[in-house]
Amino acid sequence: MSVNISEIFGTNVFSVSVMRERLPKKVYNEVVEVMNHGGNISMTTADIVANAMKDWAVEKGATHYTHWFQPLTGVTAEKHDSFLTAPQDSKTLLQLTGKQLIMGEPDASSFPSGGLRATHYARGYTAWDMTSPAFVKEMSCGTILCIPTIFVSYNGEALDKKTPLLRSMEAINIQALRVLRLFGNAQAEKVTPSVGPEQEYFLVDREKYLKRRDLIYTGRTLFGAPAPKGQELDDQYFGVIRERVGAFMADLNEELWKLGIPATTQHNEVAPAQHELAPIYTACNLAVDQNQLTMETMKRVATRHGLVCLLHEKPYAGVNGSGKHNNWSISTDTGENLLDPGDTPNENLQFLLVLSCILRAVDRHAELLRCSASCVGNEHRLGAQEAPPAIISIFLGNQLENVVEQIVSNADSIQVLAAGKLDSGVASVPVIKKDATDRNRTSPFAFTGNKFEFRMVGSSDTIADANITLNAIVAESLCDAADILEKAEDFNAACTKLIHDWMTRHHRIIFNGNGYSDQWVAEAARRGLPNLHSLVDAVPYLVADKTVELYGKFGIYTKSELEARAEIMYETYAKVLRIEAKTMIHMAAKHYIPAAITYATRLGQSISAVAGACPEADLSVQKELLVKVSAQLSMANGALEALKVLSGRVDAMDDMAEMARAYHDQIVPAMKALRVPVDELELLVDKDIWPVPTYGDLMFEV
Ligand code: ADP
Ligand code: MG
Repeated sequence: MSVNISEIFGTNVFSVSVMRERLPKKVYNEVVEVMNHGGNISMTTADIVANAMKDWAVEKGATHYTHWFQPLTGVTAEKHDSFLTAPQDSKTLLQLTGKQLIMGEPDASSFPSGGLRATHYARGYTAWDMTSPAFVKEMSCGTILCIPTIFVSYNGEALDKKTPLLRSMEAINIQALRVLRLFGNAQAEKVTPSVGPEQEYFLVDREKYLKRRDLIYTGRTLFGAPAPKGQELDDQYFGVIRERVGAFMADLNEELWKLGIPATTQHNEVAPAQHELAPIYTACNLAVDQNQLTMETMKRVATRHGLVCLLHEKPYAGVNGSGKHNNWSISTDTGENLLDPGDTPNENLQFLLVLSCILRAVDRHAELLRCSASCVGNEHRLGAQEAPPAIISIFLGNQLENVVEQIVSNADSIQVLAAGKLDSGVASVPVIKKDATDRNRTSPFAFTGNKFEFRMVGSSDTIADANITLNAIVAESLCDAADILEKAEDFNAACTKLIHDWMTRHHRIIFNGNGYSDQWVAEAARRGLPNLHSLVDAVPYLVADKTVELYGKFGIYTKSELEARAEIMYETYAKVLRIEAKTMIHMAAKHYIPAAITYATRLGQSISAVAGACPEADLSVQKELLVKVSAQLSMANGALEALKVLSGRVDAMDDMAEMARAYHDQIVPAMKALRVPVDELELLVDKDIWPVPTYGDLMFEV
């Protein structure tokens, strides 16, 4: 199969160049102006754009259109409407009006609103987001024109992830431009955050998947003894990609390229059957949309290959989980990356100011940043002895850390460590220039040359929350810096002082060592850095005064919007765990305990039979096995009953925050207590009787 990337790339996108071709010049100019600088388009213009969009989509085979949005479920939503108009004389015209393009009113009552909208007051509106291009999606139900939209309530409160994201981008744009002007930059008109998310995932054979109720209902295994082999040989990472997986990747790339998503990097990850895909970075809002589409496309394409794509953060215990590294930078429309230190960061005052703003932002709002990466599946990674740790710190690398140290210690003149050469000692290999910094895989927030990599986000989660938070907290520090520096008489002196002050005050957030070590946990506590083990510990910070003030100041979230989001996080946490607990109860009662009883009965019968046939035979092995199986069986049954009773009690609670807390403190340990004897049984019971595919079957037979 050969693919010409440049021929298929973006063919399913109603891009700016398609608009240029298909729209009258005046209309095109009006649309581009609003896309770049905001404002409203007239209804006449909207009608013309809608018609052109419909014609283009119909040529692509589209029969329906949808307003495509990102409600607070964290996934995307769509309701398809056909282009049909009322038939006359058995004939119909296809139509998309400007009004249909610009606004929709889905029945909003079934989307989570966290109390922002009572069900009897269900109005919610979707409104065209012109910053993200429309596209067609080819699905088994037909080809659908997708119009990216925001989703707001009757009162204009955000019911989605997109609205606050766009607000946060506007905030950082305005504040960064203020700072740039102070440095004499008069050309830049816009500053945009760019994002490149690296997406990790697992693949599993679909037939085996369908035999596991836990994978079907929860996306992860709730039981399972370790396979004899795990990831200890380090032979998976960057290993040769198996044929079936390779065919999936090739197909996936093609689908993504058609959607204008620049999927570029693909490789095997650390755990068996774990892989990664990374696109080329793009503007923050587009990156969020594209990541949602990528996840959805992965799932769809996997099915075609007899596979299932698991985006869960922790499908299997005992091997690595999956995350999403959110690479983030800010740059101007004139092409300047504000996070590029250049060769002489020590002399680059603007870079040092931006850096001190980021250090301050992350230190001031570490809890909020941690909260932005909190989702139920991520509980198994953050704060659970797995990468990355739940403590937020920043890795700068030797060169920059050294510059910061010199600034903090008031060195007379700031020097920069030379990048150096890398000589392998092999004569035929050229000596290459080394990067100024090495990497640190254990840091949750690492500087990697000209961007920060926020590594905490979960693999199944939207990257919207992380980027809203990053944009907002950095906008706040840029704003505070501009407030001070705009009043300064001697700009250079004031700027140097500000950098010194902020770096000194927030120096504690920098950590270049091993983030997984116990020493770091103790050291972080000594430094006063927060260590929030769980989502339920982090959510209160979403509604803390400091957060309300931050988001209110930049018009990103109102207090009630934040309260709604906190409520939804608690609710989702409790609901997901309820499903997990119920699934465990189901599997233990219907699969595992009956299988163990069958095995014990068979053992008992064989003991009697052998004893009858040969009274002097040594039956100690069979008997010992029967004793062991019976003991684990009774432990499993005890734990099952305990989980049932506890679940009933916790589910009767009214308050969402309390219920989430009870799930965390009581149900999670009860679930673990049930898993232990069942996993023990798996190691004892005959493979023929064991009712579900094992870890070995799932991870090594893909
Ligand atoms: P790694 O070596 O960590 O895998 P890469 O350089 O391959 O890092 O980049 C990982 C991701 O970061 C990719 O999606 C890439 O496009 C993105 N990226 C690179 N430069 C930037 C930047 N300046 N801003 C945001 N994202 C970036
Ligand atoms: Mg990376």
